[in-house]
Amino acid sequence: MSSFLVSFLWFLLFFGGAIYLAYQRIELLTSTVATGVAVLAYSIYTFAGNGWWPWMLLSWVALAVMVVPNLIDIRREKITKPLFDIYRKMLPSMSNTEREALEAGNVWWDGELFSGMPQWDRLMSFPAPKLSDEEQAFLDGPCEELCEMLDDWEICHELADMPREVWDYIIENRFFAMIIPKQYGGLEFSAYANAMVIAKLASRSPTASSTVGVPNSLGPAELLLHYGTDEQKNHYLPGLAAGTEIPCFALTSPEAGSDAASLIDSGVICKGKWGGKNIVGIRLNWNKRYITLAPVATVIGLAFKLYDPDHLIGDKEEYGITAALIPSDTPGVTIGRRHYPLTIAFLNGPTTGEDVFVPLDFIIGGQEMAGKGWKMLVELLSVGRAITLPSTGAGGGQAASYATGAYARIRKQFNTSIANFEGVGEALSRIAGRTYIMNAAVSVTAGAIDQGEKPAVPSAILKYHCTELSRKVANDTMDVHGGKAISMGPKNYVGRGFMAAPIAITVEGANILTRSLIIYGQGAIRCHPFVLPEMQAAGDEDTDRGLIDFDGALFGHIGYAISNTARSFFLAMTHAKFSRVPLNTPTRRYYQNINRYSAAFALASDFAMLTLGGALKKREMLSARLGDVLSSMYLASMVLKHFEDQGRRATDLPLVEWSVRTLMYEAQEALHAFLRNFPNRWVASFLRIFIFPRGRTYTAPSDELGRKVVELVTRSGEARERLSQQAYTTLEPHNPLGQLQEALELSEKYAPMERRLRQAQKEGLIQADAFGGQIDAAKRAGVIGKTEAVELHDYHDKVTALLAVDDFAPEELGRRAASGEAVAPRSVAGESPRSNTKKKTGKKAVPRKKTARKKAARKKK
Ligand SMILES: Cc1cc2nc3c(=O)[nH]c(=O)nc-3n(C[C@H](O)[C@H](O)[C@H](O)COP(=O)(O)OP(=O)(O)OC[C@H]3O[C@@H](n4cnc5c(N)ncnc54)[C@H](O)[C@@H]3O)c2cc1C
Repeated sequence: MSSFLVSFLWFLLFFGGAIYLAYQRIELLTSTVATGVAVLAYSIYTFAGNGWWPWMLLSWVALAVMVVPNLIDIRREKITKPLFDIYRKMLPSMSNTEREALEAGNVWWDGELFSGMPQWDRLMSFPAPKLSDEEQAFLDGPCEELCEMLDDWEICHELADMPREVWDYIIENRFFAMIIPKQYGGLEFSAYANAMVIAKLASRSPTASSTVGVPNSLGPAELLLHYGTDEQKNHYLPGLAAGTEIPCFALTSPEAGSDAASLIDSGVICKGKWGGKNIVGIRLNWNKRYITLAPVATVIGLAFKLYDPDHLIGDKEEYGITAALIPSDTPGVTIGRRHYPLTIAFLNGPTTGEDVFVPLDFIIGGQEMAGKGWKMLVELLSVGRAITLPSTGAGGGQAASYATGAYARIRKQFNTSIANFEGVGEALSRIAGRTYIMNAAVSVTAGAIDQGEKPAVPSAILKYHCTELSRKVANDTMDVHGGKAISMGPKNYVGRGFMAAPIAITVEGANILTRSLIIYGQGAIRCHPFVLPEMQAAGDEDTDRGLIDFDGALFGHIGYAISNTARSFFLAMTHAKFSRVPLNTPTRRYYQNINRYSAAFALASDFAMLTLGGALKKREMLSARLGDVLSSMYLASMVLKHFEDQGRRATDLPLVEWSVRTLMYEAQEALHAFLRNFPNRWVASFLRIFIFPRGRTYTAPSDELGRKVVELVTRSGEARERLSQQAYTTLEPHNPLGQLQEALELSEKYAPMERRLRQAQKEGLIQADAFGGQIDAAKRAGVIGKTEAVELHDYHDKVTALLAVDDFAPEELGRRAASGEAVAPRSVAGESPRSNTKKKTGKKAVPRKKTARKKAARKKK
């Protein structure tokens, strides 16, 4: 062998060894010793006259570079200190508001994904979330019964509110008290149970799920539980649990929407009269809008800026955002008027306060919590965002999957079920796959919250993605249903959910902002293993201590960046086939793909922060794409964990594969778009070599996989049931979901008979176009028996009723039309149907029975 070839093999050994050490994150000292041994061996080989001198010298230089960081005192003084001084000068100042948002919650699985080397055991060791017997009984009992009572047409169109009996039922059964501990009379449910209840209600009525969701998320009860004084808890919580107190939380104002911290609502500390006595209190003025439950609230959780110009409670003149509980019957408070959010009838409206004087101990947590309002809000939102809105999305998705899957089977065009058309199938697979993603994200994340996690970044990911996914599901559901979804009326079980979708997008941090600023903006600093420690060290007033901490974080960061470069390259070159996975199951390749993208994402993140610094925050399109990569990996991990939590059911595999494949394909495309638009083209080219050395090789779900998902969601079976597990699917006269399932099962049962009919028609034995006529003709021709004909007619009637849409007399629709005011000219409207048409109310054919009676007759499919 020539000496050049041997030297080349040595080089490969060095290079491979370096990649191995970096890939495995072997610590610096061990790596240096290993390199030293290799360099020494090659030097002996070279001195013996076999090696290549340039290689040997180069290897000594490499070794020297590795040795220096091991000499901690020298490196700290010569390398870290100058960098520390520059970094301290460069470090952008951070407002309290920003710092509080950053410090809220904790880092969970998001941190592992940011590490470039996720430790799957950490995720897999979490127990599968489970309902207690009591929680299960609540879902099967009161929750099921409430669903049965809800009639969205009546609620949204006829009453623009829920009927009194529904309100009473909600209050009596303590739906508003899911998060309140039992000692105060609440239900004390887990986050998981809370999410499941909301999902079930959302599958039935967006009005009911929003009404119940609000008191169980950010609001007076939650604030009191975490920050209230004992006196405040004892005063309010029993009433909130019993429903004698109705809460709302008022933060948003006309000036302060997304930038909620810029609110101008004020509270000035002054002397005044309260209960006949002169006291030091707060004079409040506010003008809030969009406040859910404000029109009927008895207690308003109010966010305002607190000022003390006369120094009545301390030295400060301005305390900042403060939260207080204000009884709505306090003089000066106005509530009662309503906004009308996209025709969804939950109570939402403005509230104002004019010179409302209250005692200081109305501040949540008392005087010592003055100015801590923003911290409270972001801390609570860091968890709450993962529950109410995401489970609303999941519930909506479950109903949509269940309904659309069945509808696409029973609706026939061109002599076949529309489910058989590939175009419709594409939409169906998206509906089902996206529902699976939402279910997984909600279930696993709520389970983690119940284990004590407070995952701030995942909460934002869930808020954004579940609401976006549910909006996409609603779009596809509309399209598959065609005109049936467009024609509003009691028979339309789709349109209202479609209208409600943008509401969830807008609230609790509007989605554009959440994607552009919160997910990555917060995540990059929060979840990165070294950026926050570096910032904290640089901001330390004790500079000696700061330097030591900064040095540790900086060299940790360098090692991490080197490792991610090696990992990203090696995993991309090998399609991650050799990377470690927690389980050897059919899903193992998906874990490996997440491993790969985790390293690539960490690498891209580091370079983005290094080259753009603070400007990255303003480059929202870039940071949002990095956020998309993080979100895709997070959601894909949730899907894999959910699959395990549900017992690794083989029938669900197509859903799992579709979901993870879609998400990881999106991650790849987001990363590609990030590199494509990265301003520094040299850095972008460098990154592309290490991230996509073989190009973009990941593919979206195949058509074949999509077809499997369509089969699963359009045929009755356990996978279809599991996908819509929380949805209200009971077979009863007012539940389209139950009726659609019944029709689906009948369509499967009678498919052979239908085939016989079609064959008879082809053979000319029967001649009729309409299905009803075909049944009669087939009976006469002896193709089917008498009983079979009756059964087919019954099935046909059920399908016809489900496919039907409503129509109305003009006066039934417009208020002004109802009062006799003509709108359309007679020539356009034609002969008024008022005179010659029997009144069609559009009401359901089956009269509503008393709920209690129906409950007894209820039969869960
Ligand atoms: C039905 C409903 C119920 C609500 N309930 C409550 C409640 O109970 N209590 C309460 O206090 N509030 C409530 N809100 C208020 C809600 O939280 C706000 O509407 C929301 O925060 C957005 O504010 P805005 O509507 O003024 O939008 P704007 O702040 O005007 O935002 C408009 C658009 O600009 C985007 N945007 C703004 N800043 C940025 C940025 N820096 N980067 C990228 N995009 C940005 C937003 O994402 C949004 O798309 C409710 C709102 C609605 C509609």
